[in-house]
Amino acid sequence: MKRRDFIKKVGTGSGALAGGAVGATAILGAPAVHAQEKTYEWKMVTTWPKNFPGLGTGAEFLADTITRMTNGRVKVRVYGAGELVPAFEAFGAVSQGTAQMGHGAAYYWKGKSEAAQFFAAVPFGLTAQEMNGWIYHGGGMELWKEIYADFNLVPTAAGNTGVQMGGWFNKEIKTIDDLKGLKMRIPGLGGEVLKRAGGTPVSLPGGEIFTSLESGAIDATEWVGPYNDKAFGLFKAAKYYYYPGFHEPGTTLESFINKDALEELPDHLQLIVLNACRVANQDMLAEFTNRNNQALQSLINEEGVVLKKFPDEVLAELRRLSEDVVADVAETDEMTRKVYESYKAFRAQAIDWHTVSEQAYLNARNPKGVV
Ligand code: CA
Repeated sequence: MKRRDFIKKVGTGSGALAGGAVGATAILGAPAVHAQEKTYEWKMVTTWPKNFPGLGTGAEFLADTITRMTNGRVKVRVYGAGELVPAFEAFGAVSQGTAQMGHGAAYYWKGKSEAAQFFAAVPFGLTAQEMNGWIYHGGGMELWKEIYADFNLVPTAAGNTGVQMGGWFNKEIKTIDDLKGLKMRIPGLGGEVLKRAGGTPVSLPGGEIFTSLESGAIDATEWVGPYNDKAFGLFKAAKYYYYPGFHEPGTTLESFINKDALEELPDHLQLIVLNACRVANQDMLAEFTNRNNQALQSLINEEGVVLKKFPDEVLAELRRLSEDVVADVAETDEMTRKVYESYKAFRAQAIDWHTVSEQAYLNARNPKGVV
């Protein structure tokens, strides 16, 4: 657009400027134009305690990034679990417009949609790197949007924990039978796998885990990884810390945005909001990658935690049960079937490729060989 056409257009569109013989510089610098820029005050509800390391601070990072990248035009304020609504009511609150945005994990909403769980974590499923491949480039995002559209929400990835830990136990897990009768906090499809193994899965928001474990209301728990688990003090209530977190191999944290609130924004602000989520998605994984081993060493060396690997036979049995659980969930409804088929095809491709890339390299790099 030529400069004078632009000036003409601005002049035409602005009542304040119409009719006046105003110089170009005055028009382009006119405060009246800026005064027309609408600002938006957004509330972000989360499923995490306010400022909880990694997860809660990740939500704060996202809110701050949006606020600053929009130069304050979209001002986002974060509410921790229970501040505006309880953790597990965040989805409904954003769906209804009580808040404009939420930060959580999709498996918390399995009561709304079984298919949602595929966008958080699947036992023996995709790693963080693979989740991003599926969501951003493998068709996952389109399916995710389709599911959340029924709730007037727009979802996107906004954090990843990487491979989690298997959890905290007060007894050793030597065979699959040791999981029988075990009451364990473990959400989503991982919980279904525990049920198949004879245990009782419990879904609790993070803030309630420690007291439940300490009081004996639950026998065992998983939460995230060393950095987060140490922050909750879980080592004070259980002795054995098991790995790997077969049930959450690269959990995607999500942002869910009220569709009307998002679409009310001009295009470029919508793009900033969605891309800030991408930045948050990458940043959280980077933070966990840096912090987890430091926390793990401290748990072992300073807190006397006993680190244990699930025996290979137990993992093999859990993998078999997981395949059944995931295949059965696919039968729930047509949408879940569609998501399952997409996820399954991507997983097969990821296994092929990563056998000759990531996995081969990690094995080659490790002086202990294949562990
Ligand atoms: Ca977890």
